[in-house]
Amino acid sequence: MKILKTISQLRMVRAGVGDLGLVPTMGFLHAGHLSLVARARAENPTVAATIFVNPTQFGPNEDLARYPRDMPRDLALLEAAGCDLVFAPEPADIYPAGFDTVVEVRGVTEGLEGAVRPGHFAGVATVVAKLFNIVQPTRAYFGQKDAQQSVVIRKMVRDLNLPVEVVVAPTVREVDGLAMSSRNSYLTPEQRAEAPALFRALSAAKAAYDAGERDAEALRAAMRSELDGFAVDYVSVADAETLRELNRIDGPALASLAARLGTTRLIDNLPLD
Ligand code: AMP
Repeated sequence: MKILKTISQLRMVRAGVGDLGLVPTMGFLHAGHLSLVARARAENPTVAATIFVNPTQFGPNEDLARYPRDMPRDLALLEAAGCDLVFAPEPADIYPAGFDTVVEVRGVTEGLEGAVRPGHFAGVATVVAKLFNIVQPTRAYFGQKDAQQSVVIRKMVRDLNLPVEVVVAPTVREVDGLAMSSRNSYLTPEQRAEAPALFRALSAAKAAYDAGERDAEALRAAMRSELDGFAVDYVSVADAETLRELNRIDGPALASLAARLGTTRLIDNLPLD
């Protein structure tokens, strides 16, 4: 496995290989990230992962400074997963002095995470566009866990004609249903014990949907009733493509939510289709 720290090193190595699958991450890897590497491994002759805690997608009062990092462990996990190349640049390499261009995807970024985290998706779209330009992947792999992010990236790729195939893979969960996340490491034992309520809430909505309920507000109410006592940022039943809130469900939809446990903010979702 080759570890590349600079854009020029990466470009040189990239030029020597053909089709490539890319897994962008912020590191502190878990089985969710590794499922994307495994999928990329199965579908591409060369697999690259990026480890970059992207400062521009964090708000001023968010967790950039304390975001968990463990580069040696991440590299060992990627090597064991069969990754060929790891690109781990420095922020100053990605955002040199005078950097002044932003990729802004409108519409699908307005609700959900976009409403609570202004500027977040501009940071995500900009860094992913840069990573695509630097690495030039044939395919790029993202997790359903960050459903709105996947919608935003698909939209950017379509709108800007980027020559990349976007693959979205299912959310990997702990045995009690909690979606794996680097941020789960922030949880105290008590909070960790409460956290599966998020998945229970989504499962309640999905069960009602599977039983034939198509009134979106009834599904949102089912989610809220599982989240009594939580600091809920939103519960949503939205169109899976536009991410607009629905009244009635008559096509692919997405149940999603965000809640805070102490200072830790968790998000999760389940497709309804
Ligand atoms: P992050 O390091 O949090 O930026 O995540 C990197 C990629 O891994 C993103 O495409 C995420 O959606 C994906 N990912 C994060 N958690 C999970 C999970 N539990 N299951 C599947 N994919 C995930």
